[in-house]
Amino acid sequence: MSGERIQIILDKCTGCTLCVKACPFAAIEMKDRKAVIDYNKCTLCGACKEACRFDAIKIELEATPHYDLSLYKDVWVFCEQKNGIIQSVSYELLGEGKKLAAKLKSRLCAVLLGHELEEKVSELYTRGAEVVYLVDSPKLKHYQDEPYTEILSALVHEYKPEVFLCGATVIGRSLMSRVAVKIHAGLTADCTGLDIDEKEKLLLQTRPAFGGNIMATIITPNHRPQMATVRHKVMKEADVDDNLKGKLIKKTYEDSLFSSRSRLLDVVEEVEETVNLAEADIIVSGGRGVGKPENFEIIRDLAKVLNAAVGASRSAVDAGWIPYSHQVGQTGKTVCPKVYIACGISGQIQHLIGMQSSKIIVAINKDPDAPIFKVATYGIVGDLFQIVPALTKKFREVLKK
Ligand SMILES: Cc1cc2nc3c(=O)[nH]c(=O)nc-3n(C[C@H](O)[C@H](O)[C@H](O)COP(=O)(O)OP(=O)(O)OC[C@H]3O[C@@H](n4cnc5c(N)ncnc54)[C@H](O)[C@@H]3O)c2cc1C
Repeated sequence: MSGERIQIILDKCTGCTLCVKACPFAAIEMKDRKAVIDYNKCTLCGACKEACRFDAIKIELEATPHYDLSLYKDVWVFCEQKNGIIQSVSYELLGEGKKLAAKLKSRLCAVLLGHELEEKVSELYTRGAEVVYLVDSPKLKHYQDEPYTEILSALVHEYKPEVFLCGATVIGRSLMSRVAVKIHAGLTADCTGLDIDEKEKLLLQTRPAFGGNIMATIITPNHRPQMATVRHKVMKEADVDDNLKGKLIKKTYEDSLFSSRSRLLDVVEEVEETVNLAEADIIVSGGRGVGKPENFEIIRDLAKVLNAAVGASRSAVDAGWIPYSHQVGQTGKTVCPKVYIACGISGQIQHLIGMQSSKIIVAINKDPDAPIFKVATYGIVGDLFQIVPALTKKFREVLKK
């Protein structure tokens, strides 16, 4: 609570209003010529303290840990499964987790929640997990916020991981934020890079900040575990080594931990007309240059010929030309196909964040100065309405042979 950690020292406050002007959150007002803080708005950013010339604001920024951080060991990866299939983002995190564990000289552990999953455990060993924590129950068959949160929190309390990673998927984002609140840890969401500060033994969590214009590296010095969600397709999957073996720790919990205030009625799979974006080897994406929803047909035509998925920029999605599930970028999906064809997309940083690790990038844009050409392997300057249908025609001919 910010109220416990920021104070106006009334004897020193002169009512000069410098702090009111400095506060970016409009959290300070003057009452009887003294500054008064609205704790609901205050974020403890410190701008007021910096502006105050009379040393009249006291902020306790360092939260002192109330537990022994050295008890926390191991790197954990939450391995998301859907219908009993472990999602590939989990393998990416095991690959990255292995490097982090090596630098911390600790073990790599996987956490698996679901039903009838014991046969999947060996897959996690072959991807490098030395220990697998398994909680198996019919009540965990499909993801639900409350039981998953309760069980993960109980596991963390008992086994005390130092680092805890999870995919920044729809499930991961919902789950890890709840767990972080419950166990009083921090959480860096949507990371695109992880490393270890080998001197301090801290997790370096890198993610886009300020609308994607800078990359911020965040540390968690005072709380454990150091928790991060990581974007799909940013990291390389752990290699499979069939010789690797690990230790299984099966846990059971009392019924109350499985209770949920919401009830799952049905699971409806999204029907994809073309290939799934996140898994596709080739993606053809359209941006504002496509002009209107009907014109996306020429993007879809090329995608069908290439057996590719259809992507889009946020401008095309915001205009309502194509559903959000196709959006690539900072607030959409991160993709890493073999070939990414960007049609009428300017290449703003928020789009590039989601696709710049693609192996080959082909950009089609009528503006030779468009920033997309800076990341493109091949650039075609011209009108997409001529170029895309011409490519479709040619690929259709060539691929038929
Ligand atoms: C917090 C935040 C998050 C964001 N998240 C995302 C995100 O996840 N994904 C994302 O994409 N954006 C995101 N954005 C928006 C991003 O900043 C850009 O506005 C967006 O990517 C631009 O989309 P665009 O390239 O399609 O449109 P524009 O920038 O308008 O570019 C259109 C391009 O089409 C070209 N063109 C026009 N007509 C033709 C033609 N006939 N033939 C060939 N080329 C043509 C133009 O030369 C131009 O380069 C985000 C922004 C913010 C602030």
